[in-house]
Amino acid sequence: MRVLVYGAGIAGLTAALELARAGARVEVADPRGPGAGATSRAAGIVTLQMPGALEEWAMEAIEAYTRLGAARRVHGVVVAPRPCVERLLSERLVASGLAGGLTASEASRLVGHEVRVPEGWGAAYTLDALVDVGGLVSALTARLEALGVSLGRRAPSPYEASLGGYDAVVVAAGAWTPAVLGVEPREIAGSSLYNCEASSVALPEGSRQEAILYVESGVDAAYSVPEAPGRAIVGDGPNNVIESPLDAAPTPGAVYQVLETLAEAAPAYLDAYPTASWAAPCLITGDGLPAVGEWVEGIYILAGLDGYGLMAAPALARLLAHNITRGTPLPGWLDPHRRASPWRGEGPPPEPFRGCS
Ligand SMILES: Cc1cc2nc3c(=O)[nH]c(=O)nc-3n(C[C@H](O)[C@H](O)[C@H](O)COP(=O)(O)OP(=O)(O)OC[C@H]3O[C@@H](n4cnc5c(N)ncnc54)[C@H](O)[C@@H]3O)c2cc1C
Repeated sequence: MRVLVYGAGIAGLTAALELARAGARVEVADPRGPGAGATSRAAGIVTLQMPGALEEWAMEAIEAYTRLGAARRVHGVVVAPRPCVERLLSERLVASGLAGGLTASEASRLVGHEVRVPEGWGAAYTLDALVDVGGLVSALTARLEALGVSLGRRAPSPYEASLGGYDAVVVAAGAWTPAVLGVEPREIAGSSLYNCEASSVALPEGSRQEAILYVESGVDAAYSVPEAPGRAIVGDGPNNVIESPLDAAPTPGAVYQVLETLAEAAPAYLDAYPTASWAAPCLITGDGLPAVGEWVEGIYILAGLDGYGLMAAPALARLLAHNITRGTPLPGWLDPHRRASPWRGEGPPPEPFRGCS
């Protein structure tokens, strides 16, 4: 079976890997080269603090990236209203030692600076992972080359590609997916485009940042990532909807909102100052769940990965590759046409990821 994959971001690279493993002859086409889109901008967080299927997918991502030598385990400390903390501590994670409750002083020790837990809030940890994104793209590219997958820079349209004799085409072009398909973003499960963004901040002298710190205020989520002692990456500001995937510019206002949110629980952030901001366009579906499956005969989508593409890609790529090569059905709630067609799966669809608000 010959398969052409559009896009060499985390979605396209993992899809190509799974397809090649399933025995397909795979070509990847990306005009910008591997990891040039949102993937190159990702902070590298893979957190188990995700509901339902997303928790499973994050676990699979941690295993896959660790095997590729591109991930290391790190504590994720969440400070949030108590019901939110309880929801995050799934029975399975707690039983397997991957998550647990924390006192404020335990949270402070893990993070490396003082963490306050306001009245009615709680603290917990999960054993998350930080990914070296550049290392991951290189490791995946090397694996693909070893499997005989060709990585090219041309970008034929899917229509021409199907005429060119491919058995299947996978469009994994991130925010460019609607353009590659020649449709409006909303036609793909009610999607829109927005800037995923992050900023690097310097903490006050003497502060360290040793664990990922997530603070949920009920309005938005904030996180920080250890980059170097005294440095952190903060992100997850309010979504900034954009009209065109090429219109990706950081919105410097968001970093101050994130720092304010963090400072509610971690006073060190009161004196943190931004050193750099960056952003890239992401595609988010109307319900926040990815869009994975057949678009028209022989042409498949793996997109809508929002701000959690590193966490979801390996599992979704495996599901899609098995669907293409073995006919294994995909869950109806991933259907890229789901806004236009009624819900077709068994039982209710999983809860979309909306943080703890
Ligand atoms: C600042 C920031 C921080 C983030 N942090 C995290 C994080 O910590 N954890 C996490 O899980 N996720 C994070 N994300 C989200 C994650 O980066 C995305 O969900 C993920 O990278 C999407 O991958 P993708 O392969 O779908 O898209 P992309 O990486 O955008 O790849 C799409 C590719 O398609 C190519 N393309 C465009 N047009 C064509 C064409 N005509 N033909 C062929 N190819 C084409 C592009 O060149 C690009 O390489 C972050 C994102 C940003 C921007």
